[in-house]
Amino acid sequence: MKVLKFGGTSVGSSESIRNVKNIIRAQKGRKIVVVSAMSGVTNKLVEIFSAVNEGNSEVVDALLLELKLKHLQLIEELIISSETKRMTEAQFLELYEQLEESLGNTAVSEAAVVTFGESFLSLIFSQFLEEEGVSNTLLDAKNFMHVSNVENPEIETVQKHLKSTLQREVTNEVYVTQGFVRIDRNKNISTLKRGGSDYTATIIGAAVNAKEVQIWTDIDGFHNNDPRFVESTTALTHLSFEEAAELAYFGAKILHPQTVSPVKDRNIPIYLKNTFTPAAPGTCISSEAHGSGLKAISAKDGITAIKIKSNRMLMAHGFLKKIFDVFDKHETAIDMITTSEIAISLTIDDTRNLDKILYELDEYGEITVDSDHSIICVVGEGVINDHETFRLFELLNDLPVRMISYGGSSNNISLLVDTQNKVQALQLLHQKLFEDKILKVT
Ligand code: ADP
Ligand code: ASP
Ligand code: MG
Repeated sequence: MKVLKFGGTSVGSSESIRNVKNIIRAQKGRKIVVVSAMSGVTNKLVEIFSAVNEGNSEVVDALLLELKLKHLQLIEELIISSETKRMTEAQFLELYEQLEESLGNTAVSEAAVVTFGESFLSLIFSQFLEEEGVSNTLLDAKNFMHVSNVENPEIETVQKHLKSTLQREVTNEVYVTQGFVRIDRNKNISTLKRGGSDYTATIIGAAVNAKEVQIWTDIDGFHNNDPRFVESTTALTHLSFEEAAELAYFGAKILHPQTVSPVKDRNIPIYLKNTFTPAAPGTCISSEAHGSGLKAISAKDGITAIKIKSNRMLMAHGFLKKIFDVFDKHETAIDMITTSEIAISLTIDDTRNLDKILYELDEYGEITVDSDHSIICVVGEGVINDHETFRLFELLNDLPVRMISYGGSSNNISLLVDTQNKVQALQLLHQKLFEDKILKVT
């Protein structure tokens, strides 16, 4: 079994959906196809949900109509036979009415609303494939994506539910299902967070012990820097699981931060491919190390730095434990840490419990908080062993760097900068690392 995931732009128009069909048809064997919502649709649903909460019914009606027309137009463009068209429209409108109904229910959650985008698209896509002769079975991901803990999904639970779903459904070579959605521990609809369809694909991949997971998107693989901010980035043909996990966790938008973890220990490779140029090699993420040295740079925004300055206690044993316990109690992960004789600086990205954390830290010293920072992450097998690594710090001549983490792992050097300086930092590092080649690049 293979798992193929197609992102928002890959299913964003009738033309690209035809490409997707060709990609699926060209591959032999059983596959589970995971689809996102059409590009822009999840954002619209988020807007609709907040307009409902603000009681702005004019905006709600206008946005709902836009969504409805967009999907009816897609059916019109994709489906030829009038009978299939009528049936698909009727099934879509039934789902659309469920969305309208749920918006009228004050108890409905945002997740239950925003996951309709995937339900709409998967229904239309499955009918289109069928009409084109790609016999398939549409699976409702809510029947098996039982994921209580987003950070640490129990693959065995998904496996058990997926197995019984597959036994109940018509056996086929192609199954189509929705990304993004999950069922939480209270059996409510929730999500795997924005961009989560990549993660759906690897969770399913692990659950069926797939031969491989393919992630089809709008770019020819993992680039060595963020192409949205840096010109002349290039695609990498190979990344190890560790390198890809680090880059995804530290902001590379091409992969949801947790995508790699379900498949890493099971040694299931991930291929990143471009729906619009399927012949391009793309990137293979696997356990095989392909050379050592620098691979890529990424940046993660929305970082808050917290400094705790205490001239009394820092060196006393047990002090760091007390600080970390505060973060642990409030379920907040720490990304970067640096210490000095009198202060500890650390960063978090989840600020939901920041007020409570600061209240409790207050007794340990003087606290300074800086929001709107970005972590820039330089990744590559053994990157810190390069004799020229120190030259990275020439960056400090051009830009203020708030924190540096070096040596935590041999594969990663992280820098914390004000988000205002992020683009300049990415560009300067790109110049030094990939154009002047101050380090060995693989
Ligand atoms: P999808 O809708 O298919 O999930 P995304 O928009 O989530 O696609 O991810 C693909 C986009 O990620 C690319 O178009 C690119 O702009 C952006 N991106 C950011 N960093 C990288 C990187 N290092 N390599 C490739 N793409 C990147
Ligand atoms: N449609 C969802 C989003 O926009 C999930 C995804 O595209 O991966 O976040
Ligand atoms: Mg994505």
